[in-house]
Amino acid sequence: MDFCDERRKLVSKLKKEGRIKTVEIEHAFLEIPREKFIPKNLNYYAYSDIPLEIGNGQTISAPHMVAIMCEDLDLKKGQKILEIGSGSGYHAAITSKIIGKEGHVFSIERISVLANFAKKNLIETGITNVDIIIGDGSIGFQEKAPYDRIYVTCAAPRIPSILIEQLKDPGKLMVPIGNIICALNLLEKIGGKTIINNLGGCAFVPMIGENGY
Ligand code: SAM
Repeated sequence: MDFCDERRKLVSKLKKEGRIKTVEIEHAFLEIPREKFIPKNLNYYAYSDIPLEIGNGQTISAPHMVAIMCEDLDLKKGQKILEIGSGSGYHAAITSKIIGKEGHVFSIERISVLANFAKKNLIETGITNVDIIIGDGSIGFQEKAPYDRIYVTCAAPRIPSILIEQLKDPGKLMVPIGNIICALNLLEKIGGKTIINNLGGCAFVPMIGENGY
């Protein structure tokens, strides 16, 4: 299987569908090998635009969802990012390429087996600006706060106020609200105020933890 060709075809499809809009995000998708972030027996599906099982009842998100989240977060070079739900490390790897070497991603994963899987995948793809931390991301990660951007890759019952506190002003927070079937919410903090936009329906595994289920 020619993974490079499959990757190019997927990027072209995501551009046609309007999911990938900016050249920075296009380049990140072309650079990161999704086949390295999934179990080997699923390699055939690496460039299908679907979520895939990565073990422990968890999934790597569909590429279009990663693209939507990156575009709507308006990621910029040099930003400090908090990701909640590392899973395979793929989304963090895409984000790390967009923000560049001068930026940094702190990513929290509650399942240690998956945190180690993500760490291994990031090392094997040569990513050096992502730290994977084992813990409950529903309380954020105060140690490195405040963040330019925070995004959550699991569904929360409500927007955790602690995450709003750990966000810079101005800053943006993206979080799916619901239980499996949810609405993608984008919160913008600006001038001490918060504005919330519902970006539409999506499906995510639940956030388990102090501010989760
Ligand atoms: N971004 C991932 C990727 O690229 O593979 C996909 C993430 S998967 C859809 C959601 C992840 O959130 C799971 O790995 C799950 O264990 C994790 N999760 C759920 N609740 C969490 C919490 N409170 N803190 C940290 N991680 C959590």
